[in-house]
Amino acid sequence: MAERTIEKLKSIMNSDLCTRCGSCVGLSEGKIIFTDREGKYLPKVISEPDELTAKRLLNSCPGKDFNFKEFRGKFYNDAPEFHTYTGPVFSVGIAHSNVPMIRNMGASGGMISAILIWLLENKKIDGAVVTGMSKTEPWLTKPFIATTPEEILSAAQSKYIITSVNEILPEIESFNGILAYVGLPPQVQSIRKLQAINDPSVKNIKYIFGPFYGNTLHFSSIRSFLRSYSIKDYHNISKLYFRYGEWPGNMRIEMNDGRIVQLPKFHANYLIPFHIMTNSLLCTDLSNEFTDISGGDAWAPVYEERGKGFSLVIARSAKGQHILEEMKKEGLITFNPISINEAITMHSHGYDLKKRGTFIRFKFRKLLGFSNPDYGYVIKGFPFSRYLMELAIDFLFIILGTAPARWFIAQISPAFVGRVFEKTRNVWKKATYSIKRENLNQ
Ligand SMILES: Cc1cc2nc3c(=O)[nH]c(=O)nc-3n(C[C@H](O)[C@H](O)[C@H](O)COP(=O)(O)OP(=O)(O)OC[C@H]3O[C@@H](n4cnc5c(N)ncnc54)[C@H](O)[C@@H]3O)c2cc1C
Repeated sequence: MAERTIEKLKSIMNSDLCTRCGSCVGLSEGKIIFTDREGKYLPKVISEPDELTAKRLLNSCPGKDFNFKEFRGKFYNDAPEFHTYTGPVFSVGIAHSNVPMIRNMGASGGMISAILIWLLENKKIDGAVVTGMSKTEPWLTKPFIATTPEEILSAAQSKYIITSVNEILPEIESFNGILAYVGLPPQVQSIRKLQAINDPSVKNIKYIFGPFYGNTLHFSSIRSFLRSYSIKDYHNISKLYFRYGEWPGNMRIEMNDGRIVQLPKFHANYLIPFHIMTNSLLCTDLSNEFTDISGGDAWAPVYEERGKGFSLVIARSAKGQHILEEMKKEGLITFNPISINEAITMHSHGYDLKKRGTFIRFKFRKLLGFSNPDYGYVIKGFPFSRYLMELAIDFLFIILGTAPARWFIAQISPAFVGRVFEKTRNVWKKATYSIKRENLNQ
């Protein structure tokens, strides 16, 4: 007997394949919900949708498959350049908003927020789908439709815990006006899947933007971070920031009793191997390839030392290119073009993790009997040393993700662990420099 659609969906929802994009929750009319946002954050079927609805949900789901080639053909035929690592490219450059307040409030150069504000003020959109922190539960993220520049800025900065933007698809559908949408690659992939079948839920979305995406963490990262400062109850969080202050910023938590704990972003990265969401290691899209414009941090000593905030920005569609040109003409942004190869070199670590590591992990997972997403393309032919490196990384992720390892790390001062982590990471980066860069730009 053929497997029922809802069963196919459930098998994705209950596995590492679930990206937590939120589409199934949003489109299910309350039949699927997130029950444990502070735990595994998986969608749960509380009442089975009918077959037609289940098919719609499965069609919107990027967890099992998203054919990169097919969707590039559908949406990016006019892009003058293309690279398997970066996706379609009209232009790429180092950029930042020229409005100091926007630049300061953004995660890197404030480019995404600046673009949204420009579109809104020029009446090209009536609202923007963004992700802020919940007002009632300030330790959790919350997507919403911003209709003023202030609201857009209130949602600026990266959130490094799980977000499920597409759970507000019903609001997006019923919104009276044109929208810009901001999401992570799997969330964007779901929107593209829905656009490809003219689903009414996305009819209002005219522009798509998004951050680069290395990884995201489970909520356990916040609990662990607090515990290591001897704070037991996260319910007393009043404000949670991941990129507070001057770029690259700090992870900072403010408590209701006035306590503040804060750690530089590079040090707070120690939480990654302990709390990473496995699905981020199955995503091959670092630079948010299916957006109109995407942005990441311009990681290079020359920019990092200057602070202030620099983004690496890629315009992928004619629409995206036009926005950057207009904003530059009006003096609202600085955009200095670089080549695709320079952009890849700047994020060599990330591209190696996503475009090489993921395909090697797929091989390991297949050997162990786990399913993998089908992206319609495979990159192969890596040197043996890269396989060995991947084994070491995966071994570390598995060991450090266990309950005893998480307990142990929460007993140590984050300032100390963070410093050790950054030093170890630098040594690791140097030791693996040539393995990661080998043939990277080909
Ligand atoms: C989970 C995550 C992982 C990242 N990994 C990398 C990386 O490996 N390398 C790299 O160079 N850059 C990475 N970035 C991107 C980087 O942190 C900046 O977001 C990016 O440089 C854009 O900066 P900006 O100042 O233009 O954005 P801003 O002006 O601050 O705007 C950011 C926009 O993104 C939205 N947003 C923030 N977090 C989320 C989220 N979790 N889900 C959906 N929408 C969100 C906000 O609502 C806002 O509209 C990551 C971002 C996130 C959220």
